[in-house]
Amino acid sequence: MISFVGAGPGDVDLITIKGRKLLEEADLVIYAGSLVSKEHLKFCKKGCQIYNSASMTLEEVVEKMEMGVSKGLKVVRLHTGDPTIYGAIREQMDLLDEKKIDYEVIPGVSSFTAACCSIKKEFTLPEVSQTVILTRIEGRTRVPKEEDLERLAVHKASMALFLSVREIGTVVEKLIKGYERDDVPIAVVYKATWEDEKIILGTLKDIEEKVKKEGITKTAQILVGDFIEGKYERSKLYDPSFSHEYRSGIE
Ligand code: SAH
Repeated sequence: MISFVGAGPGDVDLITIKGRKLLEEADLVIYAGSLVSKEHLKFCKKGCQIYNSASMTLEEVVEKMEMGVSKGLKVVRLHTGDPTIYGAIREQMDLLDEKKIDYEVIPGVSSFTAACCSIKKEFTLPEVSQTVILTRIEGRTRVPKEEDLERLAVHKASMALFLSVREIGTVVEKLIKGYERDDVPIAVVYKATWEDEKIILGTLKDIEEKVKKEGITKTAQILVGDFIEGKYERSKLYDPSFSHEYRSGIE
């Protein structure tokens, strides 16, 4: 069996119990070396074969998996955060489907929620935004033009940007155009939940300068929106005058 496992954002204790158990039982682990903490590998049993996918092609990864399965080994493919977000797992799963090799996918804590926890905020505030947009700026991977950052910013939803901090200048420029103001709060969280985590808070006006000063060019979440700072409405869920299914008649 092959298990795609989300390792979580960094802190090794942020993997799921299911993920940790699979790691402990694995005979072969292929981990995404650039972002998965090596600490996770300490939970692997003696004799477990470990490969770093950073230096492998898609075909090499799938070949290793195929080899493992043919020997009856328990294979774990360890991805950073949650495997379903910028994890490049679909292409692996499609190749496995072609080869009629079975697999499962175990979720993980994504860096976008971890980063929001680090700044101790909530993405979805009443009367501010009830939507979270997960996106990225175009890099080597293209972004459909309908999803250009400027167009998305027009919605004024809470946003989490992956893979974009290197282009912080372009990010800010597009966000200002979309929002039509430059005082929108923004947070850059570098290596959320790692020991060397850094949090930079600012607005669209000053964040580029602050980020450049800190020399942050990778492994950061950019969180944007009025959920970071400013007024909001209390939630109806805990409002004493609002009764619902679980609390009707309490007050
Ligand atoms: N599947 C991962 C994302 C992989 S793409 C997830 O769910 O988090 C890699 C990008 O994720 C990085 O460029 C960065 O934007 C973000 N990222 C991953 N780990 C991070 C962390 N600990 N702190 C901040 N951003 C992180």
